[in-house]
Amino acid sequence: MRFSPGGSVFLWGQGCWEPVAMGLLRLLRRPPVPWARSPARGSPLRAQHSPPCRPSGGRPYKAVIFDMGGVLIPSPSSVAAEWEARNHVPSGTIIKALVAGGEKGPWMRFMRGEMTAEGFLQAFGTQCSEMIKSPVPVGSFFSLLTSGQVAKQFSVMTEAINRIRAEGLKTAVLSNNFYLPSGESFLPLDRKQFDVVVESCLEGICKPDPRIYKMCLQRLQVEPAESVFLDDLAHNLKAAAQLGIHTIKVNDAESALKELEIFLGFSLRKIIPNTCSVRKTMEIPRDSLEKYLKNFLGSQAAVSGPLEVLQFSHGQSNPTYSIRLANHHLVLRKKPPGKLLPSAHAVEREFRIMKALRDAGVPVPKVLDLCEDSSVIGTPFYLMEYCPGQVYKEASLPGLEPSQRKAVYTAMNQVLCQLHSVDVKAAGLEDYGKHGDYVQRQVQTWTKQYRATETSTIPAMERLIEWLPQHLPKAQKATVVHGDFRLDNLIFHPEKAEVLAILDWELSTLGDPLCDVASNCMAHYLPSDFPLIKGLSDLDITQLGIPTAEEYFKMYCHQMEIPAAENWNFYMAFSFFRVAAILQGVYKRSLRGQSSSAAAEQSGKLAESMSNLAWDFAVKEGFRIFKGLPTPRLSTRAYGVWASRRPPLLPDGTRSLATASKAAAPKGVLIISPEALSEPVRDLHHRLERFIETHVYPIEQDLRNHQMSEARWTPAPQIEKLKEKAKSEGLWNLFLPVETDPERKYGAGLTNLEYAHLCELMGKSLYAPEIFNCSAPDTGNMELLVRYGTEQQKARWLLPLLDGRIRSCFAMTEPQVASSDATNIESSIREERGGYVVNGHKWWISGILDPRCQLCVFMGKTDPRAPRHQQQSVLLVPMDTPGIKVIRPLSVYGLEDPPGGHGEVLFENVRVPKDHLVLGPGRGFEIAQGRLGPGRIHHCMRLIGYSERTLALMKERVKSRVAFGKPLVEQGTILADIAKSRADIDQARLLVLKAAHLMDVAGNKAAALDIAMIKMVAPTMALRVIDRAIQAFGAAGLNNDSPLAQFFSWARALRLADGPDEVHRSTVAKMELKR
Ligand SMILES: Cc1cc2nc3c(=O)[nH]c(=O)nc-3n(C[C@H](O)[C@H](O)[C@H](O)COP(=O)(O)OP(=O)(O)OC[C@H]3O[C@@H](n4cnc5c(N)ncnc54)[C@H](O)[C@@H]3O)c2cc1C
Repeated sequence: MRFSPGGSVFLWGQGCWEPVAMGLLRLLRRPPVPWARSPARGSPLRAQHSPPCRPSGGRPYKAVIFDMGGVLIPSPSSVAAEWEARNHVPSGTIIKALVAGGEKGPWMRFMRGEMTAEGFLQAFGTQCSEMIKSPVPVGSFFSLLTSGQVAKQFSVMTEAINRIRAEGLKTAVLSNNFYLPSGESFLPLDRKQFDVVVESCLEGICKPDPRIYKMCLQRLQVEPAESVFLDDLAHNLKAAAQLGIHTIKVNDAESALKELEIFLGFSLRKIIPNTCSVRKTMEIPRDSLEKYLKNFLGSQAAVSGPLEVLQFSHGQSNPTYSIRLANHHLVLRKKPPGKLLPSAHAVEREFRIMKALRDAGVPVPKVLDLCEDSSVIGTPFYLMEYCPGQVYKEASLPGLEPSQRKAVYTAMNQVLCQLHSVDVKAAGLEDYGKHGDYVQRQVQTWTKQYRATETSTIPAMERLIEWLPQHLPKAQKATVVHGDFRLDNLIFHPEKAEVLAILDWELSTLGDPLCDVASNCMAHYLPSDFPLIKGLSDLDITQLGIPTAEEYFKMYCHQMEIPAAENWNFYMAFSFFRVAAILQGVYKRSLRGQSSSAAAEQSGKLAESMSNLAWDFAVKEGFRIFKGLPTPRLSTRAYGVWASRRPPLLPDGTRSLATASKAAAPKGVLIISPEALSEPVRDLHHRLERFIETHVYPIEQDLRNHQMSEARWTPAPQIEKLKEKAKSEGLWNLFLPVETDPERKYGAGLTNLEYAHLCELMGKSLYAPEIFNCSAPDTGNMELLVRYGTEQQKARWLLPLLDGRIRSCFAMTEPQVASSDATNIESSIREERGGYVVNGHKWWISGILDPRCQLCVFMGKTDPRAPRHQQQSVLLVPMDTPGIKVIRPLSVYGLEDPPGGHGEVLFENVRVPKDHLVLGPGRGFEIAQGRLGPGRIHHCMRLIGYSERTLALMKERVKSRVAFGKPLVEQGTILADIAKSRADIDQARLLVLKAAHLMDVAGNKAAALDIAMIKMVAPTMALRVIDRAIQAFGAAGLNNDSPLAQFFSWARALRLADGPDEVHRSTVAKMELKR
């Protein structure tokens, strides 16, 4: 199978299917290492799979062990000589004093960690002073010895260590060392360079004691003869040699390294970062290459001297080599060996694009020659100049100042703009890729690729495959695109924030430039310990000086003088989708044994997490059906005005009092019938209704049976399946009102009034709200997080809740106190050691038994002495925190409401970090009010749905049931009951809609009276309607064959669960008395 995404050719089926997959596989094994780069500070440059080094005819070496003082950093004796000269202390005093006393002297005791720095300096000072009969300020010597200017690793040694590790050998430090006054040991080295560090003061043993060498070898897991040891002291070397370790005496670093090179058989100086000896399978015929190079370079300069060929550690897709001949330093990039499809690994394309771009002024390495003659080294190849410089492998740019980081990101953004501004025609690149529909083709390609490698269903991939084609960007520019534009594909100037070269052009083509920007921002959404790219999502990037992804996009748009990309979440979703598809391919190959590494298997898991991340962006981007909705402009008219100036409500002969027109309904109009909703919302209403009728009603009986079965505490698989379907159809997260989510970042952004009509539909089935991610208590908790959560809290809890991946509960009510008065809540949230400790006893906590419940929104007292309404706080408690004990599920008329249930729970010394508090201490009431804003009437909306369904069931039943010679429907009492129910429902609906409308046009506060009224009215109205239906059903109304029994018990529970009737009545009465 062959796909051609926008010009680059991708192959499948030959084990060489694509450069990206190879790249990712490589990334899984180790950080990406393009050619021509210098190591970022502190990055381990370990080649994990290189074979051990074998000197000609000898045993292979597996490790190099370094002494510290005198080998890696200056020796105490050289520091002492300099200090003595400066301080007029007789030469040799310090060293004489150091060795005096032998094993029992202060120096050796200090080295074994038996003395503190203060104790040693006192004893050592006395010793020196006695020796020269005059005071010696040894403190100043010690400060110099341990100072930053002196105690610095020799750069040649750093280079050598990098090279040794690149060749796959282990490294260790074995040092006679001491503690500093701070209590830490003196180790002015980057520990990451070493596999093992052995320090005498920590072990209580010093060199030349053989035990400390054995300890080091054991930790390295090598035999003595497999290691080389470098030290400046002969007696330390002697002891090592006696154990069979190869030794090198270090007089000066340069000559010691020369000797080490002979042992190891490769060069350690003037190394090219990230190169290693050429792997056996990747060797190129040297004679033929040399002849070719001499011929090619001969005309430019005298060419003599040996040819040095090293391989860049990456480049499994297109192997890449560092070539040195005389004073020329080049990079050679070739196709891999073996049979390839003609258009695969197109080094010719790379050569062409780099040449054209360099001519157009884009910084790329200068390409010198393309050799398409396979007879020279076996495959076509090209040559370019080696470009030295700095490559930053970590997106967080460790070791830089915030201003430098900002400059690096700005330079990266600028160079990307420069690339995207290239005049394709003038650069002769018009035929470098297809024109138009780039993203569409990419989505198709990666979907096919994914399907071809699918191993099991990944729900987020399924949703994305439906969502992406429906949300493609309308207008797409076509420019040169890099295809894999990342920080670590750039070579920077070593001293300033300037990009010297952009590398890795394998995926370049013509396409939508915003794909490059999105791909460039992926690190922003990955954690710093992510195996592919060390990301930024868990770091405070603003403090680091790094722009956020949104700022980075804006910076790009500003530079390019284009309008800010509104749909950049789409591009992020696409970028992560593409990575997920690639990883799935790598995973499939690992299963077929084509790729051996365990890391490849890890890619299977990563594919799923990348697709979830992609879906998070899709959710943020929203659904086109919502985007087609007219932006609700909420009127700010006061209730009084609304009441006195009646909106144009036109009877239409049905129960609708508003016109059903194609145009959006007039603003500020109370729409009492779905037919009068704006066209897109009406469409949503119809689709929701169809979905419930087609997919939900038919499985209700199964779901009720599941709730009575042994498996009841696990989610019903049918619900999970329908959730995926609802998500992909955009029937998801409809509840978040536009006032909470004005940019429709998280949901449909409907008005409360619009949602009331949809919510009523969902109320017709007890199972429907969850299927559309619109069920309590998650809805209230999500709204709470949108309104009050920090970005971190949103990332951790809101996004998975919005995606339906987790569930949540709200814990307020307590058995000991009358909880209808929330000021009574007694649970404590105590501040302790930078966190909070929670203790309390809660009950009726809905949803807490659900195995997917991962978050408990907890209400408790942070300050019992504060004013009454400032004592309570809201804390986000992860459900896996130790100390949470669910004692039992509580039942409502015998119904346990599984799998969420209603739990009685103990919180015993539950510890959570401080940043889990919402908004701040004492703000619990404020939050609870906000949480219960729109959410306050959702139950009422659903109760209208219960009632409508009930009445429909009743009508059906009484038409078909005959008693005493005629259908029940002909009995006068039945007719009266139907009439009463219709009137009850319509009255209550009007009140619900009025409350929702007032919330929209006048705000929640102005709607308080209507909210309280409907809460008082709706449950009792529903109970009456359901009770009449149950009566008409006869005994069948009480069992589990219809939803009536459950409707009845939940309507009854809602006379308490949403606050007792009496409390609402008292609110209404008080407000009425004030009028
Ligand atoms: C099915 C169900 C699910 C629930 N889910 C949750 C949940 O997820 N999280 C949570 O924290 N809680 C939950 N609750 C608890 C619910 O919020 C409380 O039951 C409710 O707030 C009442 O508190 P209480 O039970 O302590 O009654 P109390 O406060 O003890 O009140 C008892 C009775 O006193 C009377 N009364 C109270 N105040 C007044 C007044 N001002 N005037 C006149 N009479 C009054 C009323 O008749 C009231 O019913 C749930 C309850 C049910 C039944």
